[in-house]
Formats: sequence, C-alpha cells, structure tokens
Amino acid sequence: MKYDIVIIGSGPAGLGAAFHLSEKKSSLKILVLEKDKICSGGLLNDCKQNYTFPIGFTEEYWEQKEGEHFLSAVEDHLKPSFLEKTNLEKYQRRAEKVGSKLIKIKQSHVGTDKSKFLINGLMDTLRSRGVEIRLQTEAGTDVDAIKNKLYLSDETEINYDKLIIAPGRKGFSYLQEVMNHLNVKYIDNSLDVGIRVETKLEYYPIVLDYYDPKFYFPGKVRTFCTNSGFALVTKENYHHFHLVNGHALSPDKGKNGLVNFAMLKTIGLEAPVSSGQQMAIYLARLANEIGGGNTIMQRVGDFRAGKRSRAETFNLDLYDFKPTCSACAGDLGLTVPSKIMRNIWHSLKLLDTIMPGVLHPSTIMYYPEIKMYANKPFFIDRNFAVTEDIYLVGDGAGTSRGITGAWASGIRAASGILKKLNKE
Ligand SMILES: Cc1cc2nc3c(=O)[nH]c(=O)nc-3n(C[C@H](O)[C@H](O)[C@H](O)COP(=O)(O)OP(=O)(O)OC[C@H]3O[C@@H](n4cnc5c(N)ncnc54)[C@H](O)[C@@H]3O)c2cc1C
Repeated sequence: MKYDIVIIGSGPAGLGAAFHLSEKKSSLKILVLEKDKICSGGLLNDCKQNYTFPIGFTEEYWEQKEGEHFLSAVEDHLKPSFLEKTNLEKYQRRAEKVGSKLIKIKQSHVGTDKSKFLINGLMDTLRSRGVEIRLQTEAGTDVDAIKNKLYLSDETEINYDKLIIAPGRKGFSYLQEVMNHLNVKYIDNSLDVGIRVETKLEYYPIVLDYYDPKFYFPGKVRTFCTNSGFALVTKENYHHFHLVNGHALSPDKGKNGLVNFAMLKTIGLEAPVSSGQQMAIYLARLANEIGGGNTIMQRVGDFRAGKRSRAETFNLDLYDFKPTCSACAGDLGLTVPSKIMRNIWHSLKLLDTIMPGVLHPSTIMYYPEIKMYANKPFFIDRNFAVTEDIYLVGDGAGTSRGITGAWASGIRAASGILKKLNKE
C-alpha cells in the first residue's frame, strides 16, 4: 500500500500534521496509524490548552515569533473557548515580593470526560477530508529510509513518500529504537522531576481567579498542570514503573472541593551522565520499591514532623480529606533526591506566602511526577526532518511539552513537507 504521507501516532502532534496537510493539499493520500483503540493520545487527559508561548514548547527549537504564528493555526483547528482571569495583579505583586513570578497564560479547559467529544469531532473532520485513520494498528521500528517503507506489527508493508513519527512520551523508547535503526543522532539529557500536591480548594483559592496559575520559582522550579473543579490525581502506568499526574473533569460534572498541581524541577544532565530517561526510570523504580510497587503519598503535617505517613492515620483529625489517588502512605524524604526536595520544599514555602494555606498539614504530596521530554534528535532542517523524507515531532521527539506545542510541531513538520512537495 502506498501513501503520500504516513503519520505514526494520533496524538496532538500527529493530528496537527494531518489537519494542516489535508487542509492545504486535499489531493494528498494520508494515513494515520494509532496503536490504541481510540485516537488522540494525550488529548484524552484533561485537555487544558495553553495558547501563550513558550508554555508547552521547548525553547531550543522554537523562537517566539514562529511559536506564536503556529499557535494561531492551532487555535483555528481546536477552536478553544478561553477562560477568564481576575485579581491577577494582586498575585503577581505577592509573587514578585518573594522573588518568584506569576505568568499570565491564555488558556482553555475541556475536561477528561468531554475530551472524547472534541476528539470525535476532529476525527470526523479528518475523515471527511479523506484521511484514513487506522486504530489498533502499531507501526514497527523497522523503518526503511532508502526504500521509503515501514512495517506494521503484523508485518504488513506500508510505503510512504513522507513519514511523520509522533509517538508521544510513552513512545520515547520506540522512537530511540527507530533513531538507532536510522542512524539518527540524538541526546537525552534533561528531565523534570517533582511532586503532585493535592489540597482543599479553600487552601488554594487562586484557582477561582486563574484556572492553571503558572508560578516560576528560583532553582528552576515551577507549578505545572493545575486542576480544580472535579480534580483527580491519577497514576500514569509505564512498562515497569508508575508515576503520578493530575486531571479534572469538565464543569458539567460538578466539584469535589479539591485542587491538585505539580511542582516540578528541571534537571539538565552533564557528562558523564547522559540519559534523562534512565535517570527517570531509576528514580521512579526507587520510589515504587519503597512504595511496595506503588507511588508514594505523604501529608505535609507528617513531612514537617519528619515522620512517614501511615495508612492507619492518613485520614485522621486534621487530615480531613481523602486522597483521590491510591498511593502508598510513606516518606518522601527516603526517595526524592535531597537537592530536588530542598528546592521544591523551598518553592512550596514561597507559594504558601503568596497563597497562605497551601501548606496546611492535610495537604498531600505525591511522588514521583516525572516528565521525560528528553529525546533531542539532531534535525537537518527547521521543520523537524531527520532524513530527506522522515520527520520526528511531539513530546517523544522533544519538540513540545503539551497539547498546543505538540499540535504546533505537527503543523510545522507538515508545512516543511508542503514546501518540499511544491518544489518537486
Ligand atoms: C494525565 C495527563 C494529563 C495531561 N494533561 C495535559 C493538559 O491538560 N494540557 C496539556 O497541554 N498537556 C497535558 N498532558 C500532556 C499532553 O498529553 C502531551 O504533551 C501531548 O499529548 C503530547 O502529544 P504527542 O502527540 O507528542 O503524543 P501523545 O499525545 O502521547 O500521542 C502519541 C500517540 O502515538 C501512539 N503511538 C505510539 N507509538 C505508536 C506506534 N508504534 N504505532 C502507532 N501508534 C503509536 C500512542 O498510542 C499515542 O496515541 C497530560 C498528560 C497526561 C499523561
């Protein structure tokens, strides 16, 4: 079977490319391959969309002007309704006073329960334009860049003119195998490590004014992915380890009175340590080992007292709300590297000065929340090509760190392809 364009992965990066290509050149025969039952990878979770550069972008690959240019195309495709913000100056003044920064972001939020409707609408648009989408179809790593062909896991051969590979963060190792096979050089030297904080709305009411407040603290620590309304902490299951993450349901689902957000520290590795991915796996496995095969949670009151949290006292007295994620009650001090924990705890104290209450004894800290954005392939052009006909995009390829950045990366690769096709 021969296609003009084959796209591996139907997350925002793959869909951004499919949208742009099918919109600009309807005669193209396009195939999207998705190994899961449902399309759209990370669009399914929460689906908060950030429309202010550089949130969700990796700055080494993006300049502000081009980021903003592509973001407006993302907006045209996803048609977001933006959330209002109030009292921002008050929080910004408080943040400045303690040496941190509150960044204003143009945002929208769909909610995990509603994202399926958004995704179905996106699929319908693509299908109506003649794009073929094959679900439950996994692409293998054996990509032949000379004969322009690849194989599915059932060994079916697919021929392409141009190939876009967008397998996401979970496809990190898949992409490394493909790059090794193609002899594409890459580095993998950074990661974000942190905790997820869960507390009552009354201890973090800023979310009523600003849905996902982005605070930046000294020591490369920041708040990330804040959820409220019906907010849930969740487990992210990888092959041999578990991480934590968070999401929220749409406003139609009501409220559970809780808020969660990540507090992440960015780590840049230098020689002789070279793999952010390996470091992430070791940290996660250590945490899971200490958590008896699970992630760990600790109440702030116990952490302050230097004691581990225990299942039998986890919901007593001051500890008066139930965790939304079933982690193992334990001791973060035993597993989070001390430099990371020190920076995060310091930042939490600054946040507690800006927003008094967030460090209430009942507040829960979950660990590990780790973001592995670290594959950095050596691209041969500005449109994420690694060979004449193959493009790597999205979180797995390190060109983005969120839905809108991933979608924009897909559009950027697609526009590079269109330029080449128009010249041919
Ligand atoms: C719980 C959670 C909540 C999140 N909330 C938000 C949020 O609110 N806002 C935000 O901006 N970001 C959020 N993110 C991050 C966001 O999901 C990612 O940044 C984004 O989805 C990356 O897009 P992508 O296209 O690169 O990869 P993905 O969305 O991961 O998509 C990759 C797709 O490729 C498929 N695939 C992989 N390998 C193959 C193969 N070999 N063959 C065929 N298909 C394959 C996968 O099944 C997947 O569907 C969240 C992530 C999680 C885990």
